[in-house]
Amino acid sequence: MKSIELLAPGPMMPLVMEKLGEAFTLHKLWEIADKDAFYREKGAAIRGLVVGGHVRIDEAFLKNVPNVEIISNFGVGYDSVDVKVAAAKGIIVTNTPDVLSEEVADTCLGLLLMTVRELPQSERWLRAGKWEGQGPYPLTHTTLRGSTVGIIGLGRIGKAIARRLEAFDVKIEYHNRRPVADCGYAYRASLKELAKSVDILVSVAPGGPETHHMIDAGVFEALGPKGIFINIGRGSAVDEPAMVEALKKGTIRSAGLDVFEFEPKVPAELIAMENVVLLPHVGSGTHHTRNLMGQLLVDNMTGWFSGKGPKTPVGETPWPKA
Ligand code: NAP
Repeated sequence: MKSIELLAPGPMMPLVMEKLGEAFTLHKLWEIADKDAFYREKGAAIRGLVVGGHVRIDEAFLKNVPNVEIISNFGVGYDSVDVKVAAAKGIIVTNTPDVLSEEVADTCLGLLLMTVRELPQSERWLRAGKWEGQGPYPLTHTTLRGSTVGIIGLGRIGKAIARRLEAFDVKIEYHNRRPVADCGYAYRASLKELAKSVDILVSVAPGGPETHHMIDAGVFEALGPKGIFINIGRGSAVDEPAMVEALKKGTIRSAGLDVFEFEPKVPAELIAMENVVLLPHVGSGTHHTRNLMGQLLVDNMTGWFSGKGPKTPVGETPWPKA
């Protein structure tokens, strides 16, 4: 397969670069100074893209590489790829589902507990010498005891989160575009309805135009002044200025966030707040899980070019061919 040329717009983890570099001819766009000259000379020869959200893969990008057959995305979320344009051109898009679900669910439960029980704040209290100086950290008003948790996006990761929450003996409700078959949790047909009915709202919703800013001021209003918002899905699903406003004004009580709208930029107002817990998008961030994701990306690419087909094509992709 060495004669097959691939392009990576941005750096990927070593496992991906090494394995694809051994099997294929892999070009590293970020190391190329004159990109126009590269596209003129090599653009038509590129048959696969290896992407990880560094660059938006849209009509304009694909014009430079007109013979691409497959876009292999690192991560289950593929909102940086214009899948409609790719599908119209007959290009396969793959992602890395399932292998990260349990890890992300673990992180979500950690973030949820940190936020509900104010664990980072109480740790800061100890480190600042306040335990000895001023006394115990104040009791938290919030608790999981007797709580209802609402999940936006009861998919692969959402179900793994719900499974863990069951062990915490809380009530679980959810919102998707459609109810999940054979599911014992209460379905809420609208986001506001879900927010109104729960104490803690957890978003695992994907990014992209359909979910853009769907968690807005009205949803925070419905969640209410005792409500807690957790986001482990995508930052773009939240109207971030509206969330900041809701946290500032006490429209909601607190938030735990692993994802942001313009990563790695996090609004200074959020960083200055005491009632938020902020993580730098570490949901799947272990060597174990990232290696599984990297291997799945490699398997998709080698599967395609050895004629076996893509292993995990995304729903919108033209596969199997009609
Ligand atoms: P999934 O299995 O496809 O689940 C997505 C869920 O969202 C589905 O239940 C879907 O149900 C629901 N949904 C989609 N569009 C919606 C909309 N417009 N309104 C309401 N619900 C909607 O995906 P997954 O594997 O669980 O991953 C979910 C997302 O988690 C990814 O897309 C990614 O952005 C994020 N993620 C974050 C991290 C991290 O490190 N923080 C790591 C991995 C993934 P319906 O189709 O019925 O609406």
